[in-house]
Order: sequence, then structure tokens, then C-alpha cells
Amino acid sequence: MKSLDIVWQEMLSIIEVEVHSLGFDVWIKPLRPLKVEDDVLVLCAPTAGAKTEVIAKYLPLFKRALREIDDAPSEVVIISEEERPQKTDETEDTAPAPPPKPRAGSQCVLNPRYNFSEFVVGKCNRMAYETALAVAENPGEQFNPLFIYGDVGLGKTHIMQAIGNDLRMTHPNIKMLYVSTDTFINEFIASIRTANGINNQSFRDKYRNIDLLMIDDVQFLSKKPSTQEEIFHTFEALKNAGKQMVFASDRKPQDIPDLDNRVRSRFASSMVVDIQPPDLETRIAILQKKSQSAKKNIDVRELTYIAEHVTSNIREMEGVLTKVIFLSKLYERKVDLAICQEALKDYRVQECDEITADEIVDCTCKYYGAQKTDVLGKRKNKEVVVPRQVAIYLINDMMTLPLAAIGEYFGGREHTTVMHARDKIAAQIATDAKIRTAVNDIKAMILRK
Ligand code: ADP
Ligand code: MG
Repeated sequence: MKSLDIVWQEMLSIIEVEVHSLGFDVWIKPLRPLKVEDDVLVLCAPTAGAKTEVIAKYLPLFKRALREIDDAPSEVVIISEEERPQKTDETEDTAPAPPPKPRAGSQCVLNPRYNFSEFVVGKCNRMAYETALAVAENPGEQFNPLFIYGDVGLGKTHIMQAIGNDLRMTHPNIKMLYVSTDTFINEFIASIRTANGINNQSFRDKYRNIDLLMIDDVQFLSKKPSTQEEIFHTFEALKNAGKQMVFASDRKPQDIPDLDNRVRSRFASSMVVDIQPPDLETRIAILQKKSQSAKKNIDVRELTYIAEHVTSNIREMEGVLTKVIFLSKLYERKVDLAICQEALKDYRVQECDEITADEIVDCTCKYYGAQKTDVLGKRKNKEVVVPRQVAIYLINDMMTLPLAAIGEYFGGREHTTVMHARDKIAAQIATDAKIRTAVNDIKAMILRK
């Protein structure tokens, strides 16, 4: 893993182009990178208020930036100066170091964590698991090629690499390749360029003289006709030689747009298996397994709470768990529901990223029976002021929009007016059941959309 400073410098250069320079100077520059621990980057904000602002405004951006950096931690946590642990007592740290991530571009680097024994089997993925296991036991025989599809974060890469990891143990001399479709495309293009279009023999040797070829995310072949042609020939060569192929995609072969019919029909006549989103029980079992691997004892009540709140994506759920473990260490107390809630708060910010201000105002108007033009306009009677303030509060709460931009949206109001409205509703939520119910109901309405 890269050093703390390098990760932070790389993040800053990504963030800088996306953030208003004022916001960058006021909120981001004062942050200090504290450490990387258990795959979490910890940033320290100067005050509790700054921490809240940074989380509300920039957390999704920070996460996106981390994903763009190779070999970086996968989560980020922001704490305030007051929350900084006084003693830097690293000796207690019993958690094992996170396994190295497979680096983009490098050839058969498999993540050792992606193995069959770490994979929790439920109704949602049983078929994929069983066929993958059969492939690892008898490569090139019954299920060749194997085509695994399913939504993002549901374990396609894990199960695919598990085949490779398993075969590497049972057949140490086996020649295998695991590549992302992007890598395949880039290498193919480079091979044509270096060979002046006459001969790309070394590329062909590499992909055809092997026993197992795994290509991930083949949906990215879409609109790449010359690479598709190359895949087709690779496919035929390996198939004729009885070698095993495994493909993963976020959709089934029939649904990949702009794909050569020969390639599509090869994919479609593979053993095609899908992975569905896991049910609650499977999600809890996955969390149990992950916390055991991290040597953390977390009550099933807390694990259930997390599993109930992160429903569709296992990668996101792991991210929340990583954060929970981190916070429990930071606060030096056992994982409880409050810690889970705190970790989930950040997750919701990200989840709400696609909501628009228009949707929020529409729902608020509908709830209060108010006119949108009034709520966005200048009138100051009570019938429009309350919905206006609630809408401002919700936009600030659910989106990552700077206060000034919210003011702009509400007919060019000052950012201090926005702040005032937000704080007023926040205070009322604590004391006034009517406002609290309104805010919760409107939020539910927005999230249901
Ligand atoms: P995909 O390739 O489908 O986007 P990944 O294979 O990268 O998803 O999985 C995302 C994360 O979720 C990985 O860390 C993986 O280990 C974990 N994961 C997915 N499915 C399972 C499972 N059934 N059991 C344990 N961990 C899983
Ligand atoms: Mg994947």
C-alpha cells in the first residue's frame, strides 16, 4: 500500500479539479491525513463543525477519488481534532494487515482473499458457486466456457478469482491469466501498434498458450469491434485446444449492446449463470465471516442492523463494516448500534447522491400542498416559509450541494439564509414531533422514487 502522504497528494490532485476553489481552500486544505489503518484512510478536520461540513459536502467525492488511485485504502473516515485519540498506541493493533489488492495492469495477480472458503453461499449465488467449483475441479470439461453475470458488487470477481486461486493450489504449473476487459483492450491495441499492424504474435502467444483464461467485465467490449474480433479468435483457439475460459459481465450476453454476433453467440452458448442480490440471511452470514476474518467479535444484533440497512451491494456493506470496526477502535468501545448508525450515515450520503433538488422540492410541496413557484419565490407567509425551510434542510441533508448553490437555487438567497433555515429545522426536529414526522415522511417519499 502507498504511503499516507502519497495517497493524500494524489487525492488532492483529483479533488482539486472538481471542487470550487473557495471550498477547496476552506474545507479541504485544512484537513490533515492522520493514518491508514485497516484499509481506512483517516483524515482529521480542525473542528467538529468542519467535520460535519466535509462529510456532507465531499465524502462521496473522496470515495470516488480513492477508487481512482491504485493501491489505496478503500474507505475514508473523517474525524475532528477533538476525537483524535490521545495516545498513539499501535501496539494493541491485532488486526491482520489487509491483503494486497490486485494491481491494475499486472497479469495474473489474484487477490488471495478471493477464494472459495471466504465466499458465503446462499440462494442468490449457489449456482455460480457450484459451477465455479466444478470448473476448478475439472477445468476445460463440463462447464466451458463459464459466463457469470450479475450486478455490481455481488461477487463476480471474487468467484472468478476463486477458480484461479484454487487451481493454483491444486495445479501449481497451470498457466493462467486473469485480466480486466480494459487490460485486454489496451494490450491488444498496443500490440497492433508495436507490430505496425502486421503481426501481433506475442499478444496471441500470451493469450492462446494458456490453460485458463479469465476475462472480467466483458460488458466493456461493447463498441470495440476490433477487440471483439480478437476475442473471437482467442475464444476459438482456446476452445479447440480444450482450454478453460471464464467470463464475467454485469449483464447477460443478450443484453450487451454493440457486440459482434459471433462473440455474442459464443458467450450465450457458454454455461451462463447469474448472481442475484443476497437476502438478509446471506448478508448477515457474509458480515459474520468478514468480522471473523478481521478477528472482531461483533454481536449478531449489530450485524443484523448493518445488513438490514445495506441491501443491494456487498462491496458497500463491507465498506460499512470496515468503518464500524474502525470507529469501535477509535472510540475504544465495543461495537454498538450507535457506532453502526454513525458508519451508516456516511453510506447514506453516498446513496443519496443521485437525488436532485427538484425532486426534494417537489415532494416537500406535495406533502404541504404548497406551490413550487411560491416555495422557490420571495413570499414570506407561514404557508410557504415552512416548506421552504424543510426543503432547504432536506437538500442539505440528502445532497452534496454547497450552501451557496442551494441559495442560488432558491431564487438567489444568501448562503447565510440557507444556513439559518437548515439550523432552524435541525433544532425543531429535536423538539417538535410534527416537524420530525414531516421530515421523515418527505424523506421516505423521496427515497421511494
Ligand atoms: P463484482 O465483481 O460483482 O462487482 P466483487 O467480486 O468485487 O463484486 O465483490 C465485492 C466484494 O464483496 C468483495 O470484497 C467480495 O469479497 C465480497 N463478496 C461478494 N460476494 C460475497 C460472498 N458471497 N461472500 C463473501 N464475500 C462476498
Ligand atoms: Mg468485478
